[in-house]
Amino acid sequence: MKKIIIAVDGYSSCGKSTMAKQLAKEIGYIYVDSGAMYRAVTLLALRAKLFSTDGKIQEKQLKALLPKMQISFKYNAETGMPNTYLNNENVEKEIRTMVVSSHVSPIAVLSEVRAALVAQQQQMGKEKGIIMDGRDIGTTVFPNAEMKVFVTASPEIRAQRRFDELKSNGQNASFDDVLKNVENRDYIDSHREISPLRQASDAVVLDNSHLTREEQLNWLLNLYHQRTTE
Ligand code: C5P
Repeated sequence: MKKIIIAVDGYSSCGKSTMAKQLAKEIGYIYVDSGAMYRAVTLLALRAKLFSTDGKIQEKQLKALLPKMQISFKYNAETGMPNTYLNNENVEKEIRTMVVSSHVSPIAVLSEVRAALVAQQQQMGKEKGIIMDGRDIGTTVFPNAEMKVFVTASPEIRAQRRFDELKSNGQNASFDDVLKNVENRDYIDSHREISPLRQASDAVVLDNSHLTREEQLNWLLNLYHQRTTE
């Protein structure tokens, strides 16, 4: 069967990574979580204390760190899922905290950060057989991807999912704070100048507000079979 590139874009916490991981496992594709890469850069910036108290980022210093930064993914046999590594350190858990979530959007608007990460993502897709999820995968990273999915769900449903995820990881957060964070990130992601979140003209919309995981997977598999036999 021909190998393709699958781009999954959409709003924060709409279950993109869960569905992309599920599909990747089912069809034996590589899964790449591009949001984890922006989160890893954010963690790097937080550790280097590059955020001032007014939320501004010391861009020059961050730019100097980028060439030395190495982000990779390694398979975790225990969970059966890929983990994110920053300079060979497993940062999978740390990049999912609320601190990182609330600092990631201003990092993701920086042109140098985007250029560095997009180049790395394009390199990962050279051999095809890859599913990548994010905000600009079908529009900027892989504009020629054979299958593009744009996922949506209501902000409340998305906040509830993120809230449950934080709780199951043993992290304390209020539902209202999570909802505010989801809405705020949606706003910044859709209004930024470079690669704003938008639906590619050839993407297929999937509203998964009321779909079970199984229904969602079947929907994706149908589209995948269509795209690989076209
Ligand atoms: O997907 P996730 O919510 O983990 O992504 C974290 C943040 O990274 C998003 O809020 C967004 O600002 C940014 N991002 C991006 N482009 C991508 C993936 C994520 O700007 N392709």
